[in-house]
Amino acid sequence: MAFQHNIDKNRCKGCGLCLSVCPKNVLEISTKVNEKGYFPAFQARPEDCIHCTMCCIMCPDVAITITEVEESNA
Ligand code: SF4
Ligand code: SF4
Repeated sequence: MAFQHNIDKNRCKGCGLCLSVCPKNVLEISTKVNEKGYFPAFQARPEDCIHCTMCCIMCPDVAITITEVEESNA
């Protein structure tokens, strides 16, 4: 089973807590503002993500979700 990591950029307030707990240094803060005028976090290095869920647990705004997805064999 594969996992899909998603950050709802318009829920994010750019606090940076998720960056500080990521053991793989996957996340960075965007230089583009979201709808609320914050600079949201994004996965700068998604290939390094181990889907440990630390960032989801830490986010005070519940902006990050990890969902199981069917693996494509195509
Ligand atoms: S799931 Fe883990 S490895 Fe992936 S971005 Fe979040 S904290 Fe980093
Ligand atoms: S912890 Fe949540 S609100 Fe803070 S930067 Fe990360 S995704 Fe955004």
